[in-house]
Amino acid sequence: MDRVIFHCDLNSFYASVELLDHPELRHLPVAVCGDPESRHGIILAKNEPAKGFGVKTAETIWQARKKCPDLVLLPAHHGKYRDFSRRVNRIYQEYTDLVEPFGIDESWLDLTGTLHLFGKNPRALADHLRDRLRGELGLTISVGVSFNKVFAKLGSDYKKPDATTLITRENFRSLVWPLPVSDLLYVGRAAVQTFEKFGIRTIGDLARFDREALFSLLGKNGAQLSDFANGLDHSPVARASQLEPPKSVGNGLTFSRNLQGAEEIRAGITQLSDQVAARLRRHHMKCQGVSLAIRDPSFRDISRQQRLSAPTCLAREIAQTAMDLARQCWNLDSPVRALTVTAIHLLPEEEAGAQMDLLAGEREAKRQRLERLEGTMDAIRAKYGAGAIVPASAPLDSGRERHAPPPGGLNSYLEES
Ligand SMILES: [Mg+2]
Repeated sequence: MDRVIFHCDLNSFYASVELLDHPELRHLPVAVCGDPESRHGIILAKNEPAKGFGVKTAETIWQARKKCPDLVLLPAHHGKYRDFSRRVNRIYQEYTDLVEPFGIDESWLDLTGTLHLFGKNPRALADHLRDRLRGELGLTISVGVSFNKVFAKLGSDYKKPDATTLITRENFRSLVWPLPVSDLLYVGRAAVQTFEKFGIRTIGDLARFDREALFSLLGKNGAQLSDFANGLDHSPVARASQLEPPKSVGNGLTFSRNLQGAEEIRAGITQLSDQVAARLRRHHMKCQGVSLAIRDPSFRDISRQQRLSAPTCLAREIAQTAMDLARQCWNLDSPVRALTVTAIHLLPEEEAGAQMDLLAGEREAKRQRLERLEGTMDAIRAKYGAGAIVPASAPLDSGRERHAPPPGGLNSYLEES
């Protein structure tokens, strides 16, 4: 039997929450931003009328005002958004225990096993959910209903706000295939450019393209995207309880031979930081501190930690801090048996976002580009395994092994505690 998957997407989430307190602004163009006083402040969300003026998320207030001089700016309240997000997901959990949040405003629901309890067909249940959220919270969602996660996600984008879209085995060719290939989950800018060279512009072009050719072109990645385009996504919806946010995220390695010298230690730290950053992003968290633990060949451990000036989920910033710590507490010419890099003092990325808004626009734009880039790498890794992308400076991959947390005395090592 086919699965019944919903993807529920809160429409203009931040702006909708803010407008609950300002109903009189509902029909004016409104945007939410970190600091309304700063020209360089970043647009975090906009309502439908602002969208109509071409206002875009992540552009500066200055850019947005050029397109829409009467744009009303409201400051962000990240605590409120987290609270609403929790309430919304709690409502979803009344319908299934398989609720997988994807960011603060989207969730997948797997209703395969519970749909019959509600005496409704999938569309009617989706409509009921929309009514309930509108009535109880004053928020609207668009819902994609399909037999897999990738198509459900496309469905919630297909028509919004406050709409239900069914993507079935019967209609997906007419509904999904004409869409631009970039609409497909996990198709990044690089893939779009590659596809372009082969005349692949729509999801249908991708679906009809020879799978073997895509495999030789893009490896497993290409084959999998071909499967997605053809409705062959079997990835499960995670159970909500599997997604409790961690307090810290650490990765450690015992090396098959001792590392020695700044270059080798840097390579080890880079590799670990890459894994830590990927896990942070998977949990939608940023860290405000980094801890480094070093074990010498006689199994003596030393660890140090440092606060960061701004929250991050970037591998290169975590690695830089860990390397600084190594320089401070270690003679780099002494042999190293094992390393552990841990991201500490975590906070949800949307809360970190509020802090980041205080930074100047240009620096923030660059960070966002880097985050998108590293995020794309995560998506590929998630689908195709950790070996799919190896950071340039990771020559240590022969004969390494995962190691257990160092024994007592290393309180910095907390595996997603
Ligand atoms: Mg949304």
